[in-house]
Amino acid sequence: MNHPSQYINKKIVVLGLARSGVSVAKLFHQLGAIVTVNDRKTREQSPEAAELEALGIEVICGYHPDDLVQADTALLVKNPGIPYSAPPIVRAQQLNVEIITEVEVAYWVSQAPIIGITGSNGKTTTTTLIGKLLEAARLQPVVGGNIGLPLCEIAREVTKDQWIVAELSSFQLKGTAKFAPKIALILNIAETHLDYHGDLQDYIRSKAKILDNQNKDDVAILNWDDPVTREMITHCRGISFPFSIYETLEQGVYVDPPYEPIQAGEPLPDAAEEAAARHIMYRMSSDVEPKSLMPLHMLGIPGRHNAANALAAIAACLMAGAAPEALVKPLEHFRGVEHRLEFVSEANGITFYNDSKATNATATIMSIRSLSAPIVLIAGGLDRGSDYAELEPIFRDRVKGLVALGETRSKLEAVASQAGLEEVRLVEPKASAEETLDEAVKLAAQLAVEGDIVLLSPACASWDMFSSYEQRGSMFKKSVHTL
Ligand code: ADP
Repeated sequence: MNHPSQYINKKIVVLGLARSGVSVAKLFHQLGAIVTVNDRKTREQSPEAAELEALGIEVICGYHPDDLVQADTALLVKNPGIPYSAPPIVRAQQLNVEIITEVEVAYWVSQAPIIGITGSNGKTTTTTLIGKLLEAARLQPVVGGNIGLPLCEIAREVTKDQWIVAELSSFQLKGTAKFAPKIALILNIAETHLDYHGDLQDYIRSKAKILDNQNKDDVAILNWDDPVTREMITHCRGISFPFSIYETLEQGVYVDPPYEPIQAGEPLPDAAEEAAARHIMYRMSSDVEPKSLMPLHMLGIPGRHNAANALAAIAACLMAGAAPEALVKPLEHFRGVEHRLEFVSEANGITFYNDSKATNATATIMSIRSLSAPIVLIAGGLDRGSDYAELEPIFRDRVKGLVALGETRSKLEAVASQAGLEEVRLVEPKASAEETLDEAVKLAAQLAVEGDIVLLSPACASWDMFSSYEQRGSMFKKSVHTL
């Protein structure tokens, strides 16, 4: 396997000066490589540059020099978000220079085994939960990757008795070569990030890379209920330990009795009632009897999608060697992560939830299904070309009013009118994003009556109006509190 030490005196280009870029640059520099860091952002936008330069690392800001990547460049480490069409990457491809992301380097360096979590939705929730569960089971997790510290930073510190718990995006995984987590999770696959990947196949292929280099002792935890990940089970090289909310498994983690699939056109079952009738089961192999871990309704996070996330997390922890009894209390106490179906407040009998992290239609559907009361939905954001038609049934079933904002507002209005929604309000952009959101919150509060829920679950990314979904969620909470 590669090791950064093989790059002593070799030229390395680090593209992108985010935290992960800084940590990769430092690592290779300390090992004696000749590192150049490049970012298209200007010097003023790159406060990290000074720190690296003080160490003697060359940093070029503001543009991509034509000769950045040369025939004798040994490696290019790219920030996951930079597209493969960026000129230095195109040039590296032409020159056959190996292109990787920071995750690959972290894998080369880490003494500790890695639990890698990917999927279209539920990664942060599941990763955070695994961290808490392993902590309770005294298995010394360190959580990082897309959340927390950059993986390279963690990888250099951990010992072999610890576990790295890493949230991994398709962008990060696309740039891996030999990366092989001891335990790999793929939670689900929904159509998203097509602007980056070009097509769904490339997106799926990138996610599936998490399994590519596993050996027979490694573990693959895949969603039995998702046709794409179920199909992957037939190819995985390691031990398969799937999870399912819809079927009883011979090996894996599931709910008993299984959930009934939701039928189009039928009224949605009540989330709380459904959970009350079920148990979380685990079965380590088909040779042993299944065991009940806990009643499903004791889980601290609501809804079927969160039940699936919890099953995946339980599966990972059991395979990491956690004692089942150690998992129960933290599963009860875990209330989820900020901006994910987060309770904000209750005023005049109306409950407000912040689900700003729901950046695609699937996530919004899952969140709406998890709530029992009639919903006034605030949605809309960056237009990535989707038509949002998949929202129509849930609009019909569960949404009593829509307040649409952002670039996709008219598209969402069209879906709402198809679904026969009577109360639809469009919020035209105001002088600032804050004002626009304030207006949306006011309109939503006017549409809601006692017993209703006002839910911000945009089904879209935030970058048309906000710097991040966190900013959008925080502004929403502020607006709600000043109603
Ligand atoms: P990610 O890190 O993959 O974006 P999060 O845990 O941050 O996932 O959750 C983001 C949103 O996705 C949540 O607000 C919720 O609406 C939705 N979601 C979470 N888990 C699932 C799941 N298993 N299936 C579908 N949607 C989900």
